[in-house]
Amino acid sequence: MATRFRQGAGRLSLDFVRTFRFRGTDHPIEELPDLAAVTVWIDQCVPHAEGPTGATGAAEARAVREAIHELITAAWRGERISAAARDLVNGAAARPVPVPRMDAGGGVRWHADDLVSAALALLARDALELVASPHLARLRKCAGTGCSALFLDLSRPGKRRWCSMDHCGNRAKKETLRRHAGRS
Ligand SMILES: [Zn+2]
Repeated sequence: MATRFRQGAGRLSLDFVRTFRFRGTDHPIEELPDLAAVTVWIDQCVPHAEGPTGATGAAEARAVREAIHELITAAWRGERISAAARDLVNGAAARPVPVPRMDAGGGVRWHADDLVSAALALLARDALELVASPHLARLRKCAGTGCSALFLDLSRPGKRRWCSMDHCGNRAKKETLRRHAGRS
């Protein structure tokens, strides 16, 4: 399976939100510039989902993503979401989600008539569930330099600092080691 996109934020909606990297800085990176990228993301992050694409485009996916980001960050800060973003998230959540279907060979796939729309429905529902759940208190912003990705810290001590040990965690450790080495 392809692993082009970063995962491991603890929620599907949080992994989706981070496809716009370095949000809020002057050098953001858009990882979902077109429909092809959106379908690769779905293929990697929404297991066993399939269906035709085309009816719902990348611009709509990005708009729902930014509304989900606003929803989650507003709830986290105890602020109110804008009506426009709320409507976008609610509208996406109300759409049909993929449904399981067994093929002649006995395999089960999750089918959608409009794959992108169905994935956005899953993502919007996941985000709404998150802001209504006690897990919201476990939302963290990555301490990695310039990262600022949101992730859910479900560890028992609740002191996780990085979105992933593979990337930001390791880099921070190496920076610390370098600093110590420079001092000796
Ligand atoms: Zn990070």
